[in-house]
Parts: sequence; structure tokens; C-alpha cells
Amino acid sequence: MKIGIPKEVYPGEQRVAATPDTAKRLQKLGFDVLVERNAGCGANFNDDAYTAAQCQIVPDAATLWTEADIVLKVRPPQLHPDACKHEVDLLHQGSTLISFIWPAQNADLLQKLVSRQATVLAMDAIPRISRAQKLDALSSMANLAGYRAVIEAANHFGRFFNGQITAAGKVPPAKVMIIGVGVAGLAAIGTAKGLGAIVRAFDTRLVVKEQVESLGAEFLELNFAEDGTGEGGYAKVMSDEFIKAEMALFAEQAKEVDIIITTALIPGKKAPVLITQEMVESMKEGSVVVDLAAEQGGNCACTHPGEVYRHKGVTIVGLTDLPSRMAQQASQLYGTNLYHLLEDMGGAKNFQVNLEDEVVRGALVVHSGEITYPPPKVEKK
Ligand code: NAD
Repeated sequence: MKIGIPKEVYPGEQRVAATPDTAKRLQKLGFDVLVERNAGCGANFNDDAYTAAQCQIVPDAATLWTEADIVLKVRPPQLHPDACKHEVDLLHQGSTLISFIWPAQNADLLQKLVSRQATVLAMDAIPRISRAQKLDALSSMANLAGYRAVIEAANHFGRFFNGQITAAGKVPPAKVMIIGVGVAGLAAIGTAKGLGAIVRAFDTRLVVKEQVESLGAEFLELNFAEDGTGEGGYAKVMSDEFIKAEMALFAEQAKEVDIIITTALIPGKKAPVLITQEMVESMKEGSVVVDLAAEQGGNCACTHPGEVYRHKGVTIVGLTDLPSRMAQQASQLYGTNLYHLLEDMGGAKNFQVNLEDEVVRGALVVHSGEITYPPPKVEKK
């Protein structure tokens, strides 16, 4: 059974769905691995490294997609600029595609995949249950994004993060506020603390208080009896009163902190706007906002998705490619998530799409010529 690793065609995307290391592991599961020429270059894996890992280098996308039984990708399929065809049209009838798909936002793509009689698993739809943690690509990428958010903030912030006493004077530590303490927020707290900043964090889900404090940061609280923990531990939409109260807190904090990192998301919804233009304008000159929700509309009113933007002396980082900016590590982690999925699906010898498996069923978005998204609700035992 052949696995194909195409070169990503989304502009600026540097990640690749298998590294030489994960390709070797896939071979141990019985798969042959084909890699499109230069597929790993953006992530610092050249063709020689794949050849040394016993992969077969394929000269172009059309050959790769035609020959592969299973295609592993990072970004959802799109129009291929060189082949002048949609990647879905390169997929051969009845084959399997495993990739980020974002099915809720990509209904047309699902229809297109149906027409190829493909089997499609969306890595963004893997259920986030304990058993599936090793396949959890959302967490792998969020962890990188949270880390990188702090590095981007440090890059645009013209000062130390840690406090110092030098012969030339005393330097105060930077103050960082993190809004939203999911996987990315926790990674951002750890990184900012590691650089020596004073860190405070806020989340609507009160269960994260302990995690914030265990990382040495302060948990900001409201005097408000409403908890944001919704179904499956995810955030729920809060009352207008709550949002008003948290925004009053952020307005106070904005005047005081040097850096704000926002990661507030509610699955399937547009990101809530929590930092207004007025709050940005109240920040000190040279302050930085990093908006990790930029792709979902942004938590900050001044965010320009995909851009670094200056507004009245404050830098607003709205980059949407943070994991790709750490492409080598991101590819290794994502490739490992894919490896675990293929291992759970039986490897090459016993490969099957087991609809009884909650994880496989959760991720399956197209199967046997039908859209299988959203999956049926799983009864809690
Ligand atoms: P996410 O990226 O969906 O959201 C980021 C954070 O924003 C969440 O913590 C959310 O509570 C917060 N938020 C939403 N609205 C807000 C608001 N108005 N103000 C402030 N904060 C707001 O989060 P995620 O990283 O995907 O994690 C979400 C949940 O999934 C968590 O409970 C996490 O523990 C859980 N999870 C489970 C697994 C697993 O079991 N395999 C893996 C990863 C995450």
C-alpha cells in the first residue's frame, strides 16, 4: 500500500505531512512512502534525507496523487498552481486522504471529494478524548502557535522580558496578559514565564485557574457567578453581562500590561472581539498584541489577519501561519500524529476504516461516496 506525501501548495506553507523520521515509521507499518520532489524543503528536509529513509522521490504532483493509495497532507486540498487542476481532481478514484479539512467551513470541498468516491479523514475533527491524545494534531499545532506567539511578541517588543539590574540602570520585567487558556494559552504562559515576564491570564473556564497558577502566573478573576465550561470541556458562549465584565477587566489591564496575547475561541463560532480599538489606544507606546484568533476573525478589533499592523504605536500581530514558521518541528509532530492514526487503523496489512472506532468515525468526513460529517453524537457511558 502506497502513501503519498505531496508538496504543500498553499502560499507560504512550509510544513510537510511526513519527515524522513516519520516516513521510516510508516514503512515499519508496512507502507511504501512516495514523496513529491522538494516536498520537505520548507521544513529543512531535503530529498536526499527522504531517499536515505528509503522513500521514493516522485517528480511531480500529478504522478504522486495518481500513484498513492493514501495521501497525507497538511492544508485542505486546493487548486494546484502548477498542475492547473484542483488537488481533489488529482486524487485517484476510491483512494484515501488524511489532512486538515475544516469540514464545517468547507462544504464545497466535501462535495468535490464525494465525486472522487474518496475516503477522507480530517485531522481537525479527531475527537479530543484521552485515548486520542497521540493523534491530536490540533493540540500539536496550538502548542507551537502559543510558543511562537510569545517569540513574535518578543521580536516586536523593543525591551527585555525579564527584569534586570544593570550598571546602566534598573529594567522592569515585561507584563504579559494572556486571554484564553486552552492549549495555545498554556504554551504561551509557559514561554512568557520562561523568558522572565510577569504573566497574568484569564479564561471563562474556571477549571484552568489551577493550571495557570501551577505555571507561576496569576489567574485574573471576575466577581461573577458564571462558568464557561461547555460540552466536552470546551468553552460555551457567555452571557452579554459576562462579556461586558471581562472587557471592563481587559480595559483596566490594557493600560498596564506591555503585551496581550489573545487565544479566545469557541468551537464552530466566530472569535469574540474582546480587545477594542479604544483599549489598544490606551496601551503604552511600543506595546504588542498577538491575536492567535486572527484566522477566526480575531479577538482584537485592530487585527488585520495575516499581517503585522501598527496602530498608534502598538504592534498588532495577526499572523495566521505560526506553526508553519516552525515548520521542522511542526512537521515532525504532525507526522507523528498521522503515524499514530495509521497505526490505529491497522497499518498497511490490516488497514480499515472502522466505523465502530469513535476516533476514526469522529474524523471521517467523506466515505463511500457520502458526506459523513458531522458524526453522530457519542453517548456518554
Ligand atoms: P480553544 O483553542 O478552542 O479555545 C481557547 C480558549 O479560549 C479556551 O480555553 C476557552 O475557554 C477560551 N475562551 C473562549 N471564550 C473566551 C472568552 N470570552 N474569554 C476568555 N477566554 C475564552 O481551546 P483548546 O486549546 O482547543 O482547548 C479547549 C478544550 O479542549 C480544553 O478543555 C482542553 O483541556 C480540551 N482539550 C482536550 C484534549 C484531550 O483530551 N485530548 C486535548 C486538547 C484540549
